[in-house]
Amino acid sequence: MTQIYDRVALIGLGLIASSMAHGMRRAGLAGEIVGTARSAETRDTAREIGLCDRICDTVAEAVKDADLVVLCVPVGAMDVVAREIAPALKAGATVTDVGSVKRAVIEAVQPHLPDNVHFVPSHPVAGTEHSGPRSGFAELFEERWFLIVPVEGAEPEAVDRIEALWKGIGAKTARMDADHHDLVLAVTSHAPHLIAYTMVGVADDLSRVTDSEVINYSAAGFRDFTRIAASDPTMWRDVFLNNKEATLEILGRFTEELFVLQRAIREGNGEQLHDYFTRTRSIRRSIIEAGQDTAAANFGRTPTDPK
Ligand code: NAP
Repeated sequence: MTQIYDRVALIGLGLIASSMAHGMRRAGLAGEIVGTARSAETRDTAREIGLCDRICDTVAEAVKDADLVVLCVPVGAMDVVAREIAPALKAGATVTDVGSVKRAVIEAVQPHLPDNVHFVPSHPVAGTEHSGPRSGFAELFEERWFLIVPVEGAEPEAVDRIEALWKGIGAKTARMDADHHDLVLAVTSHAPHLIAYTMVGVADDLSRVTDSEVINYSAAGFRDFTRIAASDPTMWRDVFLNNKEATLEILGRFTEELFVLQRAIREGNGEQLHDYFTRTRSIRRSIIEAGQDTAAANFGRTPTDPK
């Protein structure tokens, strides 16, 4: 594959940045990959495992002469990081972010950036419940969607170029408006995470009563909830604080549906329950047909699979 950027700077070196570094390196998409993270511990780990070509101690040093700067920090930290990088950016550089929320990130980042750089927000719809520089792997983005949310007046060439990078690391791409993105993701990711967090919290309260039966006898459905509910607390706190309206809208609808099913159970309305579950089962089928998941039992995982 051909090189797309001479120098790429990764700000934040967690799951997404480290997967990106592996993916770009595997495909030869960047001449040099430079990285930095907030803590000395993360920077040292990144150096130890050779994650990037160069690890810098400051963001100003990392973004110097970079053609592409990728903000891979929690959504709530984007504002501070944008402020820090702004004076050190090269004219003509492109800045992108991988935040799970788009409207709030655009509002936090764009005002700080100088006029002579391009801002092209993005969001990889791929992840795991693991964090940190050791958690990344080159295959994370393969056949997953990378959503690109161009801001008004974005230069088409800058958008095309970043799209080529995401395709180069194996992703499929789509372009979307920020508000639409936030609503779609509230349905497909944010509300489901909140529901998983809640379910695990409820079970935890119960386990105090039943002395660990919840853990010992946890069935596949509950185990999948615990995997989701093990996701990074900082990242998810920031997602909910920054995608408030869309998440509340979806949770409102969820609660209404829950009451409908609750009533069907109370009234013994088996037909209603059966119809509902038939409809949801067909959604699972269409996700598999679209290649977004595997039909294998337990999502294709073996008990020792770390992902
Ligand atoms: P992560 O593994 O937790 O890593 C986050 C990185 O950001 C770390 O290197 C951390 O530095 C740095 N950081 C944290 N707070 C910071 C602050 N206040 N200032 C500067 N740097 C800070 O996170 P991730 O999973 O890669 O997520 C990164 C971004 O991708 C988030 O915006 C998230 O919404 C988005 N995203 C995540 C997923 C997912 O499934 N994980 C999927 C799609 C998009 P230290 O290690 O030094 O603390």
